[in-house]
Amino acid sequence: MSDYKIETKCVQAGYTPGNGEPRQVPIIQSTTFKYETSEAMGKLFDLEASGYFYTRLQNPTNDHVAAKIAELEGGTAGILTSSGQAANFFSIFNICENGGHLVSSSEIYGGTFNLISVTMAKMGIEATFVSPDCTPEELEAAFRPNTKLVFGETIANPALSVLDIEKFAEAAHAHGVPLIVDNTFPTPVNCRPIEWGADIVTHSTTKYMDGHGAGVGGAIVDSGRFDWMAHADKFPGLCTPDDSYHGITYAEKFGMGGAFITKCTAQLMRDFGSIQSPQNAFLLNLGLESLHVRMPRHVENGQAAAEFLAAHPKVRRVIYSGLPGDRYYEIAQKYLPDGGCGVCSFELEGGRDAAQKFMKKLRLIAIETHVADARSCCLNPATSTHRQMTDEQLAAAGIPAGLVRLSCGLENKEDLIADLEQALA
Ligand SMILES: *Cc1c(COP(=O)(O)O)cnc(C)c1O
Repeated sequence: MSDYKIETKCVQAGYTPGNGEPRQVPIIQSTTFKYETSEAMGKLFDLEASGYFYTRLQNPTNDHVAAKIAELEGGTAGILTSSGQAANFFSIFNICENGGHLVSSSEIYGGTFNLISVTMAKMGIEATFVSPDCTPEELEAAFRPNTKLVFGETIANPALSVLDIEKFAEAAHAHGVPLIVDNTFPTPVNCRPIEWGADIVTHSTTKYMDGHGAGVGGAIVDSGRFDWMAHADKFPGLCTPDDSYHGITYAEKFGMGGAFITKCTAQLMRDFGSIQSPQNAFLLNLGLESLHVRMPRHVENGQAAAEFLAAHPKVRRVIYSGLPGDRYYEIAQKYLPDGGCGVCSFELEGGRDAAQKFMKKLRLIAIETHVADARSCCLNPATSTHRQMTDEQLAAAGIPAGLVRLSCGLENKEDLIADLEQALA
């Protein structure tokens, strides 16, 4: 499907039924698969043949949907995970182990910040956080001899900064390591980080891809462009034999296009088991079929809400990269020419208390720990998703305590603005 446009891929990529087969992606609700001989099954375990034996590692429904997401991002291989958290963990841990170090943008999702700065630190992985606005010199200074990767979010949740993907990719490649970009907010409809130099792309499919608040999930896509063998000393997990898998050397056997995702499946899925259920993969695919139709409406509503809020006297500031004058307006024009997403943030005059009072008055827009689904919702990160962070960490992440994150759904924009207006009044 790679010659087709993104709209066509959203609808049809990843699954091509044969004669008389189901038109819709079938849900293969089976933990296991039957074989005629143990030799045939042995070949699967040895990765000598491709096929299915146990759904903790691979399932056909998931593989169809992962293949669609890989096509949308312009990658060579993909995998679904049980959540966005699992996707980011796997994408990092697949190449950065005990004794390794990574460079990350400081403006990332709170859960990912916690994963990297607390949980992965306990696994012996160190991280240096840099502002997404850092100079090339500051970025350069963050690297160490044991740096294995660079990480950032295309549009940070909830800071809404836009990553200069080319700047981060150039720095990563100058040090012989890949750039991993979490592309959850724009989705491949609005930005494809691989086209700008990213090597691995991750998603919380829980957000716009599912789009209906129906299923938690994640995805990882490999661009197939990073030459692991050219930096074999840095990536022994990919470039030397895996004793836990019959001495397979992933980068040799599966090449640049397949090594990363195969190792992710054979090692990390096998051992951590964070697989997405086939049922959820099916729901995710329904969301993907309309992603290209929904994203422009999310952007339209986000833009309208941001413009209304920016003109309101009770609003101190609005963060939305589609607003001229926003810190990221120019950079968004480059990476997000069709708009970013439906999420904007704003700070009310009166800080934390005013924010909470305003949110109580909303009728249509609900208070939820969620973004990016069909129904509009909002939250105050400092008292919810980011409550584990200190005020200093909040400031570094670009999230003042009185910030409200507003996710514009697919409703009529005049109704949304009327709700904001009456709550502000
Ligand atoms: C929500 C989110 C995550 C975590 O995803 P889950 O599906 O909730 O585990 C990671 N990154 C970004 C940018 C997110 O918005």
